[in-house]
Amino acid sequence: MSNCPACDSPSSRPWGSDQQEPILACLNCGTTYFARPIVRPLDYETYYPYLHYFDHSRFKWELAQRRRRFVFQLQEIERLGPPGRTLLDFGAAVGYFCAIAGEAGWDASGVEASAPAIEVGVREFGVCYTALDSVPAGSCSVVTAFHVLEHLDSPLGTLQAFREKLTPRGILVVHVPNQESMSAFLRYQLKKLLKGPRARQGSLYYPEHITGFTPAGLAACATAAGFDLVRSSQVSAFSRFHDPWYIRNYFHEHNIRSLRPRPGGVGDLAKKVACGLIDHAAGWAGRGDWLVAHFRAR
Ligand SMILES: [Zn+2]
Repeated sequence: MSNCPACDSPSSRPWGSDQQEPILACLNCGTTYFARPIVRPLDYETYYPYLHYFDHSRFKWELAQRRRRFVFQLQEIERLGPPGRTLLDFGAAVGYFCAIAGEAGWDASGVEASAPAIEVGVREFGVCYTALDSVPAGSCSVVTAFHVLEHLDSPLGTLQAFREKLTPRGILVVHVPNQESMSAFLRYQLKKLLKGPRARQGSLYYPEHITGFTPAGLAACATAAGFDLVRSSQVSAFSRFHDPWYIRNYFHEHNIRSLRPRPGGVGDLAKKVACGLIDHAAGWAGRGDWLVAHFRAR
């Protein structure tokens, strides 16, 4: 048994499972998680399979697709009055966000585990990569971590490292899947009905997504790491905070043009569309699929 990776509470109950691995739910903050330690045969070197069939023009197009949303997200950060213009994107992948931040006048660099992604980021966008350990303490004005914390063994340890790298009043932006989203809730209820309560899995899948944060759990984790919550929202995957890849890659995989659905077929596609519609509506009601939180370093 291990403590909640978000709020460190030792109290949990069985909640579901994936690949025979039990999922626990924290009785204090509601966060769901796989007990640590995780046995992880996972290699982030191969985490971005599309790198191998994207050419130069495709990468340019991918960047253009993201520009408007990322400019909006950077403006949202500026509104919070960061103490400088040094930005570190943790889990930067090929560096789309760093590239757009650079265009907007930020001194941006990325941290990334996948060497092939780094190679593409340097080649296509001239992104500057670094290792978190090499970043001097107190040197960053902003740290962003989009869809990373749910992958990590110790989100608290990572947030503490971010706090160390930030100057006081520096801004931290975190995006993670929302354990309390409406579409997740409805899916869980359906699965419980059809397959029994232990089949529930939510946004967790072993061994990649190992923590399913609730808003309370994420806030508790960041507070313990030395941050004050500025604001937290539960947005839909269609909001200006999402990366368009998440939706588009699904249809891309389906190869809509040749009308040949991938394994899982039309039923799977219908399920995705239904979840998308629910998420879209839930976003308006403040119960969308993504949790977007802004914090300020104490
Ligand atoms: Zn907890």
